[in-house]
Amino acid sequence: MATGNPRNKVALAPGRSLMDWIRLTNSGVDLTGVGGRRREVTKDELARHSRPGDLWMALRGQVYNVTRYVEYHPGGADELMRAAGADGTELFDSVHRWVNYEGMLSKCLVGKYVGEQSLAKSLIRKALGVGGGGGGSSGNSLAPPPGPASLRPPAPAPARPPPRPAAGPDFDWFQSPQQLHLITYCRQPGLTADDVSVRLTGRRLLCRVYLRDSVFTLHWELPEDVSPDAHTSVSSAGKVEIVLEKRRAAQWASTGRVLAGHRTSTPLAQFCPEFVSFVLVERRPVSHDTRLLLLQPPAGCSLRVPLGFHVFVRRTVCGAQLERPYTPVPESVGEAAAAAAAAERQLCLMVKVYPDGVLTPQLDALRLGQTLEVSEPVGTFRRRPQDVAELVALAAGTGLTPMVGLVRAVLDQSAEAPVRLVTFVRRQRDLLWPDQWAALAERQARFSVLHVLSEEEAESAWSGRRGRVSAPLLEELIPEPARPGLLVAVCGPTAFSAACSRLLAELGVPGQQVHVFDG
Ligand SMILES: Cc1cc2nc3c(=O)[nH]c(=O)nc-3n(C[C@H](O)[C@H](O)[C@H](O)COP(=O)(O)OP(=O)(O)OC[C@H]3O[C@@H](n4cnc5c(N)ncnc54)[C@H](O)[C@@H]3O)c2cc1C
Repeated sequence: MATGNPRNKVALAPGRSLMDWIRLTNSGVDLTGVGGRRREVTKDELARHSRPGDLWMALRGQVYNVTRYVEYHPGGADELMRAAGADGTELFDSVHRWVNYEGMLSKCLVGKYVGEQSLAKSLIRKALGVGGGGGGSSGNSLAPPPGPASLRPPAPAPARPPPRPAAGPDFDWFQSPQQLHLITYCRQPGLTADDVSVRLTGRRLLCRVYLRDSVFTLHWELPEDVSPDAHTSVSSAGKVEIVLEKRRAAQWASTGRVLAGHRTSTPLAQFCPEFVSFVLVERRPVSHDTRLLLLQPPAGCSLRVPLGFHVFVRRTVCGAQLERPYTPVPESVGEAAAAAAAAERQLCLMVKVYPDGVLTPQLDALRLGQTLEVSEPVGTFRRRPQDVAELVALAAGTGLTPMVGLVRAVLDQSAEAPVRLVTFVRRQRDLLWPDQWAALAERQARFSVLHVLSEEEAESAWSGRRGRVSAPLLEELIPEPARPGLLVAVCGPTAFSAACSRLLAELGVPGQQVHVFDG
């Protein structure tokens, strides 16, 4: 329901917040249970520590004693017990790959996980200087990136493209004395400029193209300087062209040096984003506890966010590195062209501040001009707005954030689709952008908005809806549950999303036509 909790949490006992955990880890208590001396742990030994009171777990080749951490785990003890005495890497990655567990559990580190290997064998290998003791069985590790290589085309120009890898989009490039053109043929209609990010750090060029199931990367060190403003265009057939202006007009003998990950395609769910330092340039109030943060990227960085994707904000709190997801929004629900132009220049986050939260009070205290570490976008939402025949968006609290872009995109890109936004908050003062939504409904006959309040005082002047998400409400909103092309998008706290999913299934909305934004 529309609680004040952020998404994806279970209730923890008092005194068991993240801050309490950080305090405990800094208190000097031995959380490893083995005196803090690092050791190698076999699969058999790991399996012997598999119950409450004596709980170990392997994560990416390291074994942690999580006995004391159980009470502090935001996902609850049961979730942690699923990997008790075992390798939890796969489970961890599937649930919240982005939690910085190394920082969180560093004081619980027992040692290296050597899997099936016997300790004696591992000691012999060590004595012989043979590397590698086995590192868990995550099954998620990425292949090692290709080493540096030269992209030197045969001189003179026009140069020939470098050899193609086995899979992934086709890639080509050509140059004139003034410009370098990089062309990726994705053969994926529906790609937009928001699916392409370009980042120049000195001569290092990192381009990401977010495809339907994967992220395609171009990664280079250019031989000479280029202007930091790359020009990107995306054709309706899925051809992505990035044009860089050379600082010195000349034909280059080579395009430079290939860097790690160049021309690789990474499945969306396994993509590891880099972090970039943004500067806070403006803070605007949205409601009594929610702010809009406008963040300026560094020169050379055009970090666009695919529809429905989120970024991570990273801060160090009491020595522990914390990451929290936020879904960037347009600056307003106003004109699409203006929103697109603004998105090219700035990243905009709508953040609700929890006075007792770990990260958001810090974000609220950040002064203009200070920097914030923000990740490249991650996510899995890959529906094309032009394929949507009808959109019903159900948003609780700041679960509104992915809906802002989605509502706009469906209104802009589908000719006739009716779009209905329903927001669930506690009180009238918690509404986010009610005037802007009302203005949009005035302008767009296809769009309507409904606000549902769960805790508004009975004597208040509010004449709109009250209550929570319910079967009668959804029946009214979705008269044709099996309509082809219907999309019901849901975002909010875990309990809200679970209630919506259940009610929508009972109503007869096919599962593949429901999208829950849950990170
Ligand atoms: C994919 C995704 C996108 C998101 N996008 C946005 C967005 O655009 N805007 C936005 O404002 N937020 C968004 N969030 C939520 C955001 O990531 C943070 O969770 C939120 O900002 C709170 O962070 P915090 O560190 O300040 O608070 P926390 O320290 O996490 O605490 C927040 C509140 O919850 C309570 N709490 C903490 N843990 C528990 C628990 N286990 N049980 C019960 N209560 C608990 C705290 O007491 C506090 O009142 C998103 C979340 C996800 C998963």
